[in-house]
Amino acid sequence: MKTLREYIKEAEEKKVAIGHFNISNLEGLHGIYKAARKLSEEKGYKIPIIIGVSEGEEVFVGKEEASSLVRGLREKDNYPIFLNADHHYSFDRFKESLDAGYNAAIIDAVKLPLEENIALTKKCVDYAAKLKEKGNKDILVEGELGYIGTSSKLLDKIPEGVPDKTMANPEDAKYFVNKTGIDLLAPSVGNIHGMIKGGNPKINTKRIKEVREAAGVPLVLHGGSGISDEDFTKAIAAGIAIIHINTEIRVAYKRALEKSLEDNPTQVAPYKYLNTTVDAIEETVYKRLKLFNNFE
Ligand SMILES: [Zn+2]
Repeated sequence: MKTLREYIKEAEEKKVAIGHFNISNLEGLHGIYKAARKLSEEKGYKIPIIIGVSEGEEVFVGKEEASSLVRGLREKDNYPIFLNADHHYSFDRFKESLDAGYNAAIIDAVKLPLEENIALTKKCVDYAAKLKEKGNKDILVEGELGYIGTSSKLLDKIPEGVPDKTMANPEDAKYFVNKTGIDLLAPSVGNIHGMIKGGNPKINTKRIKEVREAAGVPLVLHGGSGISDEDFTKAIAAGIAIIHINTEIRVAYKRALEKSLEDNPTQVAPYKYLNTTVDAIEETVYKRLKLFNNFE
């Protein structure tokens, strides 16, 4: 099987994006994986996916558990499913994920001044390189530049200054990548975490192009939930290689769970009242995968 790095390169060449989907539990993993398998079967080749766990999700699922689950599926089915430590804020948490066998990790030091962001990110890149030297598999490190917010939830309005004052600029992107040696960059390009009631801001595709060119590494679009299909397609064409979806999955899961509990008030077997949550996640992810891989 190709490495995640190779799949990302291939996605860039094909002008598609790899879907990155977060999980909080096994239902999430099953729903996402079922969607990917279904589309792969329809299209006749294996469509790569990335499973993400944030610091909070990772505590709930368990680091070793997440790692074993994803690796187990990958090896059992020879399927390109990879695990990413999504938004890890400290070196220690970042290191723990890598030690647990993740394929990729994001060091999110964007709240720090640029030079401090660079120093912490560089420390993480160096650690991943050290693991590689020791014979571990290739591990990708992602850094973040510009404000994209922190919460995958429903928001009332767009935070002040977004996106004009908060976007990553090409010069900083180039400087940041050169100084840190990151493999992937998550720039702010009008995207924001969470879903905004009145609609999410527009994605600045011109800025994506400029940043991709200046940075010289593949770009990751965070805060995918709430972005229009049209904006996604344009963002991929402009140079986005990976897209993160979390809030949409959370919303689908919760709605399905609420309905299921309402419909089955006396049912106590979790696998009987949670199965519709798997279906709801599968449906959400299937649509996104189709779009990200340029299928009608
Ligand atoms: Zn994110």
